[in-house]
Amino acid sequence: MFESLSDRLSGVFDRLTKQGALSEDDVKTALREVRVALLEADVSLPVAREFVSAVQEKATGQAVTKSVTPGQQVVKIVHDELVKVLTGEGEPGALKVDNPPAPILMVGLQGGGKTTTTAKLALRLKEVNGKRVLMASLDVNRPAAMEQLAILGRQIEVDTLPIVPGQNPVEIARRAKQQATMGGYDVYMLDTAGRLSIDDALMAEVEAVRDVTAPRETLLVVDGLTGQDAVHTAENFDARIGISGVILTRMDGDGRGGAALSMRKVTGKPIKYVGLGEKLDAIEEFHPERIAGRILG
Ligand code: GDP
Repeated sequence: MFESLSDRLSGVFDRLTKQGALSEDDVKTALREVRVALLEADVSLPVAREFVSAVQEKATGQAVTKSVTPGQQVVKIVHDELVKVLTGEGEPGALKVDNPPAPILMVGLQGGGKTTTTAKLALRLKEVNGKRVLMASLDVNRPAAMEQLAILGRQIEVDTLPIVPGQNPVEIARRAKQQATMGGYDVYMLDTAGRLSIDDALMAEVEAVRDVTAPRETLLVVDGLTGQDAVHTAENFDARIGISGVILTRMDGDGRGGAALSMRKVTGKPIKYVGLGEKLDAIEEFHPERIAGRILG
């Protein structure tokens, strides 16, 4: 579907005079192709521009070694810079879950994959980290969402907080904390309500839950295929709630994953995990190299 960046750049450099070092003009021409590749991969225009000018400085004047073509050389410089930007501090998938019971707040818009991702992470925490996990749904407006979490909990054999009709999200969060403490759980995960768009009521609700639980992690779950929208959602949630990391879902789709780059550049937040399918084990720690390779095609 996409012509790979390496192929494109070989074409560009074939037309240029070969020299011992990358000249400014060569690099400029090549970087036009890089910019197009980034835009096709759904990187936002300002981010693509800024990224390209950073690469331009690095690439100009670099000696071209005999073992690679100028095109390959530019691809490598771009690749390395992508990895650098995509890499956050610390271990990519590490979650702060010491001091039991550690609260994890899951936030995001409806349909982004929040409930599924809550269960996926709970399963990982249980199987990989050997943690006892309690999950609770705070989506009081959608009883089906509460039931969905209970069903997922049974599938992965992770406890869910019993549903008590009529409680508000703060009351449920308090009850989750209490049950997690009394029941000797290591982690309790709060699956907050989603809305179709960001509104004040949603944010006020999540804020109130945050204030009574003091989460160790506040993870934003967003659909990785929504590009710029995902980035705006992250900015909004971070400004109002403060997020500790992002989980990009639907990275199993056709998209080239450019949202990851915009997300890192714009919010500076680490991408901790990527969702790779509907199944409950379809999640992995974020690997900057893999996404960089995908963005470059
Ligand atoms: P929520 O409204 O944010 O809680 O979203 P859900 O967890 O209910 O997910 C919405 C839909 O997206 C469901 O059909 C999920 O199976 C699906 N989904 C979630 N994560 C992924 C993913 O990483 N890849 C794919 N292909 N589908 C996903």
